[in-house]
Formats: sequence, C-alpha cells, structure tokens
Amino acid sequence: MAIGVKVIERPIAETSYVRAALQGMGRTLKHLFEQKVTTQYPEQKESLSRRWRGTHRMLTTEDGKAKCVACGLCPTICPANCIKLVPGEDERGNRYPLAFEIDEFRCIFCGYCQEVCPEEAIHLGRHYENSEYSREGFVYDLERLTAQTHPVCEMWDPADPKGE
Ligand code: SF4
Ligand code: SF4
Repeated sequence: MAIGVKVIERPIAETSYVRAALQGMGRTLKHLFEQKVTTQYPEQKESLSRRWRGTHRMLTTEDGKAKCVACGLCPTICPANCIKLVPGEDERGNRYPLAFEIDEFRCIFCGYCQEVCPEEAIHLGRHYENSEYSREGFVYDLERLTAQTHPVCEMWDPADPKGE
C-alpha cells in the first residue's frame, strides 16, 4: 500500500520571529514611559490595609495589666500550636496569665486568636518589621507583647466586606 505524505504549510503570520521581536521591543518601550512602581523601602513605606495581620499585641487595662484572663481559648484554637499559656488565679479567684508566649515564627497569622478572645486582649497588629537573628528571638512573652505600640488589626466585618 502506498504511503501518502501530507505537506503542511508553515503559518508564517503566526510564527514570524521578526514580528514577535518587534512586539517585545514595543512592550519594553511602552514601559519606559509608564509610571514607576518601585518602592524605595525602607525609606519609603506603603500604608498597610486596616486588616493586615502581623505582629501580635496584648492590650492592657488602665492600670497597665494584661487584659488576658487566661481562659485558654486562644491556645486551644490556634492551628499552629504556637501560643503557650500558664494560667494563674489570685486570692479572689480572678484568673490571669502566669506566662503567655506567642511564637511569631510558627504563627500563620490566621487571626483566630483575636477572633476568639472574649476580652479583646490579644490582637494581631499592622506591623511586620520583626526580624531576628535567632528563632528564639521570635518568641514574644507577655512583657514584650504588652510593650508593642503599633496599630491593631481590624477583623473582617460582614457589614463592610471590602473594608472601606
Ligand atoms: S494568628 Fe493564628 S496561628 Fe497565629 S497565634 Fe493566632 S491563632 Fe495561632
Ligand atoms: S483568648 Fe484572650 S483571654 Fe483567653 S487566654 Fe487568649 S488572650 Fe487570654
């Protein structure tokens, strides 16, 4: 049986290297006149979203004590298992944290701890510049958490889904 050969023409219009090269040069030229978007960090910083979830803060009462009542909800719900709480109780039965630590290195910044806290004590914050030289440096104890001063993160509000 004779074998037939089908000749397929090269689609010049679609595979022209000259055309593709000219298109690329045109695109490069166009970018020369567009507004530059490079941010000169750290001298120049973009403002963060009100819902940015970064470094935690522990809010305090008027007399400077941590608002945490050591209920245990945040370490229970934390999916990264990065909150350590040792609860204490005073002579009047008020609970407070003997120790409270968050490992910011393990944290996935989901925001569950802030959502679940009945005292609105623990918050994520609009802050991200917490570089350290060791992993241990990322473990924030109660003193360090209460000393943070950056703005706290706002939670998602179903009445304002776009956060405007
Ligand atoms: S933000 Fe999420 S992962 Fe981080 S400490 Fe809170 S609950 Fe845990
Ligand atoms: S949920 Fe709030 S009150 Fe309860 S242990 Fe965590 S920070 Fe403290």
